[in-house]
Amino acid sequence: MLSSKLAIVTGGGSGIGQEICKKLAASGANLIVADLKKSAAENTAKLLTGSAHTAFEIDVSKLNDVNRLKEFIQNWKTSPSVLVNCAGITKDSTLLKMSQEQWEDVMNVNLNSIFMMSQMVARESVKSKTPLSIVNVSSIVGKIGNFGQTNYAATKAGVIGFTKSAARELATKNVRVNAVLPGFIRTPMTEAMPPKVLESMVSMVPQRRLGEPEEIANAVLFLASDTSSYVTGTTLEVTGGLGM
Ligand code: NAP
Repeated sequence: MLSSKLAIVTGGGSGIGQEICKKLAASGANLIVADLKKSAAENTAKLLTGSAHTAFEIDVSKLNDVNRLKEFIQNWKTSPSVLVNCAGITKDSTLLKMSQEQWEDVMNVNLNSIFMMSQMVARESVKSKTPLSIVNVSSIVGKIGNFGQTNYAATKAGVIGFTKSAARELATKNVRVNAVLPGFIRTPMTEAMPPKVLESMVSMVPQRRLGEPEEIANAVLFLASDTSSYVTGTTLEVTGGLGM
């Protein structure tokens, strides 16, 4: 489905991002696994089918780092066909207790990065006339909110607005932009939650279970590939029915 196409996955060193890298590589893509820690990105790259993969250390919230990635891509001489913006963090607190730093850190990593990465890769696509699919990993929390996550939910709702606006602007330029909204998925992010909180979350899910990272990766593969050639500006909820 993605034979020899270049795909960038941010947050590819762990959890959902790692599973997305595996899925895209198994479909023939050459991956740039982009993550905060080089070692995490390298670990993922080693797991992938095929050999033309690269681990790239990047803090996606820093414009200098995004520009370093731009130079790296330009040297590669193939413009990316797929960008998956998956890097994300949580810094939970109730609104009354949340610090300015908790707010800004989550904004920078979860939302500002999506602007910088998407703008950089979309410019490369338009310049080189390479069709591009951008898939943004939002969250169902961006639609329904969550206790203790005003910062996180605001970024994930922002990702949805960004996705739809960018999709409108870029639709005639061969760039599609879509978002996946995962529900509660079994990853290091959810494993860090107290078991009682997790249990009560699962009880709200119509399918009564956590999702698996591969179930998100399947949705991303659909949106990344030409199978979804007439799909842009959409939000695909992969939640076991939560938030319908
Ligand atoms: P994860 O296992 O913590 O993976 C996130 C990856 O992003 C980690 O490797 C992390 O590196 C990296 N990262 C963090 N900040 C970064 C930065 N500034 N620059 C580059 N990479 C950075 O989390 P996950 O659960 O797979 O989540 C992946 C995405 O899905 C996130 O956007 C999350 O909001 C979204 N999501 C997750 C769930 C869920 O239930 N798990 C639900 C809805 C949406 P470090 O480990 O070094 O920090």
